[in-house]
Amino acid sequence: MTITPAAAIEEGLAQARKVAAMFADAETALLERIAARVGKDLDNDDGDDWADKRLAEVAQLRKEAEAIVRRLQAASRAAAEAAVLDTWAEGMDAAVRGAVLQVHDRKVRKRLAKVLEDAKNLGTSRGINVGQGVAELAAQTVRMVTSVHEGALRAVDDIYRNVIAETASRALIGAETRREAAQRALDRFAGQGITGFTDSANPPRTWSMASYAEMAMRTAVARAAVDGHLATLRDAGINLVSVSRLPYTCDRCARWEGKVLALSGTAGTRVEENPATGVHVFVQVEGTVAEARLAGLLHPNCGHSLNAYLPGVSRPAPVVQSQATYKDSQRQRYLERKVQESRRRAVVALDADTKRKAEQQVVAYQEKIREHTKVTGLRHGRGRQAG
Ligand SMILES: [Zn+2]
Repeated sequence: MTITPAAAIEEGLAQARKVAAMFADAETALLERIAARVGKDLDNDDGDDWADKRLAEVAQLRKEAEAIVRRLQAASRAAAEAAVLDTWAEGMDAAVRGAVLQVHDRKVRKRLAKVLEDAKNLGTSRGINVGQGVAELAAQTVRMVTSVHEGALRAVDDIYRNVIAETASRALIGAETRREAAQRALDRFAGQGITGFTDSANPPRTWSMASYAEMAMRTAVARAAVDGHLATLRDAGINLVSVSRLPYTCDRCARWEGKVLALSGTAGTRVEENPATGVHVFVQVEGTVAEARLAGLLHPNCGHSLNAYLPGVSRPAPVVQSQATYKDSQRQRYLERKVQESRRRAVVALDADTKRKAEQQVVAYQEKIREHTKVTGLRHGRGRQAG
């Protein structure tokens, strides 16, 4: 059961990781198909024929890649949509609980809970029926993650041709055997993944298919949790929120920490009513949620969250104690990327020894993740089997 807005985001991120894992698995499978074809007849002494024969198999490789991408498409579409819808719902729950928990007077608490529950139910029916808000965000997310598919097929083709060309030319010079040259070329692509996916940032950044899907999903669920939350507050007539405080803040968010933001209106001092007593109190509003977001708050991978601010009732946002720091979570994601990279290296290994070494790396990095999560209390990222 979700209790706080921050927990709603955490739940969403766990779902996002599951979707991202599907893309990582597909990426690995695609590289495995490339390596399987590159690895054919490497040691046969048939001169220039090797490259021609491999290039003649482009169409077959394409068919194999299409099958992998089709499976990914079927599975990831539904999972991406569910992640956004579920997280939005979690955000709505969190709105109710996050506000109600702040009120100590039982009567006021009951009244507020009723108002929020009604708002939540109103939002649930509206969000899904009218096709705005959550439905739009879900559709946009599905579009983003499925946009990877076409590019992935093109990239497989490119990588395959590049590996063959590089292998043939290096072997021709005689600096390496064909096998060595092929392994070197495959390793390079295994290291970076299947790349070529650009985002809408300015300037655009390039991602691998798995990291792109992960970025898109993390951004979408964080947005869903916050927007679901805000939709409920808005419907309940709550116009103010406070920004959480973390022991370690991201730089971009430092100026917003612990501050009060409004869903609408302008920055400045306002007179607002205490919902428990009806007494009017002054509230210092730093800006609107939209302005803060535009200025960087709630950026991808931001640790901050918003909570309902009830004038005269809410205390200043407490520092949320979390064992894990921002740095810890960065370290965890680094280790998770290393596991994926080692996995890719294992599937493009052309001989048993290289494969075994890469698989040992997978296990070693997984062990490091286990230690890291034990020490920091972070949630374990991808709980999947090796291989
Ligand atoms: Zn931040």
